[in-house]
Amino acid sequence: MSKKEENFFICPHCHLAFMTENMCFFNHTSICEEMDHSDSPITVRWYTKKELIEKERKKIEAKREIVIKPYVRPVTR
Ligand SMILES: [Zn+2]
Repeated sequence: MSKKEENFFICPHCHLAFMTENMCFFNHTSICEEMDHSDSPITVRWYTKKELIEKERKKIEAKREIVIKPYVRPVTR
């Protein structure tokens, strides 16, 4: 039986770290995008600095889009 080589990977889709064989990781990344992640473990997500800055920037931009419009409450009585 051949010894299976394990390597360290970080998935570019879900940003989870894996210590697994090349083939296993390849299988994961090929289905990761369409995968249902609702049962995946709550753990550390790994980002490069660039990805993290981009992610935060998107979050801030999303927040900016919330516009609270003041309105006059109609008199009903
Ligand atoms: Zn993944």
